Amino acid sequence: MIKEITARTLLSSSKHPDPWFGVKYTMNLYRGCQHQCIYCDSRSECYQIEDFAEILVKVNAIELLKKELPSKRVKGTVGLGSMNDCYMPVEERFRLTRQALEFVARHCFPVHIITKSDLVLRDLDLLREIAKVYAAVSFTITTADEELAAKLEPGAPSPSRRYQAIKTLSDQGIYTGITLMPVLPFIEDNEENILAIVDRAREAGAKYIIASFGMTMRDRQRAYYYGKLDRLFPGLRERYEKRFGDQYSCGALSAGKLEKMFQEACARYSIATRMTQYAMETSQLQLGLFDPGAHAGKA
Ligand code: SF4
Repeated sequence: MIKEITARTLLSSSKHPDPWFGVKYTMNLYRGCQHQCIYCDSRSECYQIEDFAEILVKVNAIELLKKELPSKRVKGTVGLGSMNDCYMPVEERFRLTRQALEFVARHCFPVHIITKSDLVLRDLDLLREIAKVYAAVSFTITTADEELAAKLEPGAPSPSRRYQAIKTLSDQGIYTGITLMPVLPFIEDNEENILAIVDRAREAGAKYIIASFGMTMRDRQRAYYYGKLDRLFPGLRERYEKRFGDQYSCGALSAGKLEKMFQEACARYSIATRMTQYAMETSQLQLGLFDPGAHAGKA
């Protein structure tokens, strides 16, 4: 179900940019996510989303953005795609992500997008404009196996479509890579899967892969995930319960060995395992001293 709502605020700021992607401002234009990944952490109780399958569209989001963004004194990276996928199917109709990017581009803010959807290609023109400051697009890929992905991420475009989108963006000079997370214990934590992801990343021209070997689980999210395991992978829930109990952080099996192999494969193909982030300090300084409207340099 899709429901239109009005929000009170849009941008949330963090004091320090997050260490993975350098994001300083986060915006969620929607609540809930149509991709319905079975492991999604946004189902956790702390986020207070009662029905994650119901999509709430913040119809006044662009109005809020126009009020909030120009008042930000620090030109930090704006992140899209943390609690939902900003390119899920509903975006085709409402175009909130596109309108937000238009405004961000006009105000010369850097952007980082995480998505599983090739709908991002629709906004290539805007990304090229934003890339004059800084634009990065990270595609989450947890398996290169199409059948497995259809079980784990039933509403999202296939891994092949994601790789094709990486190639298109990369060929167009957009800084593009992969977030390889989560790596689901007993399902995705094997050498074959990790090497296949890296191999296809190389073919697609991905510039980086940021990996985390394991998953997190808590309350409502765990219950949902276990319910799906019972249906899709009978017997696996018991193995999870035995190995992890109530733990929040659930590491992949042989995580150390997998990580070593992953690092070696990336080094072989010259794929970075960290992102180059927007250089906030430098550009802030330049902006403050010389020209408040100038484009900052790429990190
Ligand atoms: S795409 Fe991301 S936000 Fe959407 S369901 Fe999957 S993990 Fe959750």
